[in-house]
Amino acid sequence: MSGLTLTIDTDAWRAHQRAVVEQTPGIIPVAKGNGYGFGLARLAEEAAALDVPTLAVGVPGEVAAVRDHFDGDIVILQPWRPFDARAVELARDPRVISTVSRLDDLEVLGNLGGGVRPRVVLEVLTSMRRHGLSTADLAGAEAASGLVEIEGWTIHLPLHSAATEAEARTLADRAVDAFRAPVWLSHVPAATAQAISGELSAQGEPLRARLRIGTELWLGQRSAYATSATVLDLHEVSRGERVGYHQHRAPGDGWVVVVAGGTANGVGMEAPTSGTTMRSKAISVATGAMEAAGRALSPYTLAGKKRMFLEPPHMQSSMVFLPHGSTPPQVGDQVPVEVRMTTALFDDVVTGRTG
Ligand SMILES: *Cc1c(COP(=O)(O)O)cnc(C)c1O
Repeated sequence: MSGLTLTIDTDAWRAHQRAVVEQTPGIIPVAKGNGYGFGLARLAEEAAALDVPTLAVGVPGEVAAVRDHFDGDIVILQPWRPFDARAVELARDPRVISTVSRLDDLEVLGNLGGGVRPRVVLEVLTSMRRHGLSTADLAGAEAASGLVEIEGWTIHLPLHSAATEAEARTLADRAVDAFRAPVWLSHVPAATAQAISGELSAQGEPLRARLRIGTELWLGQRSAYATSATVLDLHEVSRGERVGYHQHRAPGDGWVVVVAGGTANGVGMEAPTSGTTMRSKAISVATGAMEAAGRALSPYTLAGKKRMFLEPPHMQSSMVFLPHGSTPPQVGDQVPVEVRMTTALFDDVVTGRTG
């Protein structure tokens, strides 16, 4: 392994995935963005091994990364728009399900021509107020159902609370009243999805609620993956000596430790869980204090502790200060680094032990 590295304990990771899938009938795994740190192709392979019928991606451009690794249906979460040429092309693909959030778009899709009948899920506007058909527009589904294949309704709620739980029920009822189709939910507990399935099914033929899950499925078992970085170089310095692009002074006697991982890898100025409040972060950013003092806590652990950056991360490496009094690492060692998995880009992904 070398560089910014993700190590996956595949047995533990897959056992967790299977447990989530068992608890969540009708689950739709979500693979989008950087593939939650694992990469889209890898997640598509995992979804295939889980034997689920449907995989979700975020945007049209992500379909290509998963389609050769997963045989089932692929739903695109970001609503379809007529000005996105890639989305228009994909709407003709029998394996692809487009999300539609405006009646105007539904009409365009229904008239694509060439004998295609696009597969769609219709998004309902929620208290997120991001995308979706308003209550008044729900009735349009019935009319469109002759031209497109309506696979379901989609309801994407804000983060879970008692209020969103009630909202999920109300919106699911309204949508199914307007057109009877399965309801695809996001960000509600599996038990809620099950209860909604039961309620909707009681009113007619069975209708399964389906839950789209990313974070809990891929990242829910923290011990199943570990992140580390290679020590690329090491230099002893005395207090006050100048270092780095910015030529800040070393804060004490110790070592400049050059570690893999920089802005291009998604390594930020501060450790994601450094406990700093939003307010103090805002103040540091506003005053330039972090930069000037070079005193931001880094996400790298050296000799058992997170250490300070000597200056902001470079593109593919970072300079961290280790004071005298601890044993320095050696060039070539892997050291722990904490990264935000949804923004990390790893140089290397390996399988192995994580503990
Ligand atoms: C990203 C996304 C999800 C998955 O969210 P997680 O919090 O990662 O589980 C579910 N539904 C929609 C519509 C999304 O865009």
